[in-house]
Amino acid sequence: MSKGRLYIVSGPSGAGKDTVLSEVFQYCPEISFSISSVTRPMRPGEIQGEKYNFISKEKFEQMITLNQLLEHNVFVGNYYGTPKEPVEKCLNEGKDMIIEIDVNGAAQIKKNMPQAISIFIMPPSFSALRDRLTNRGTDSSDIIERRITVAYDEIARATEYDYIVVNDDLGSAVQDFVSIIKSERLKTSRCTDIISEILNK
Ligand code: 5GP
Repeated sequence: MSKGRLYIVSGPSGAGKDTVLSEVFQYCPEISFSISSVTRPMRPGEIQGEKYNFISKEKFEQMITLNQLLEHNVFVGNYYGTPKEPVEKCLNEGKDMIIEIDVNGAAQIKKNMPQAISIFIMPPSFSALRDRLTNRGTDSSDIIERRITVAYDEIARATEYDYIVVNDDLGSAVQDFVSIIKSERLKTSRCTDIISEILNK
């Protein structure tokens, strides 16, 4: 059995990653989502264990020491990290997985797993990004400004990614994302099982 594919998704805060991804999962329910461990406070409406496991700084640092994370980073003053075990288990079972992480975490994973497919969700403009962060109403103005500063650096690093999806019109962005998944599945290198199965029948 061939291993599952790992899709790394990044994009600045406010680019609409979560909205795009939740639609992509409607089209591709067989793909799993990696739940990150984070030390930032839970926002209203967030559910423990849904997108994030909210844990203490001490527990996070223990995970680092025990080498339980595939990657981790500090983002606007808080730790964010991808637990190793669920990702390895999923890929070893031949299932695909999406991880949504920042550009530093993505670079760490690409270095160790160059076969991972990286996708950058781009906002249509900076003013759209600022509007989305403000209208979301979940962060203080200080945090919004810090997120915007980080966003500049992140967008400058979009060239490190295999694909760019511009999230201007949500429907188009979702279709672009799904097209990437379909194309990756059709790559010859991913179809060796089918080739040998047909030859051997
Ligand atoms: P937010 O606080 O808005 O949920 O996320 C802030 C940033 O952290 C986003 O860019 C998001 O992609 C990133 N992020 C979420 N989970 C992880 C993770 O496990 N590792 C890393 N490196 N970044 C993450």
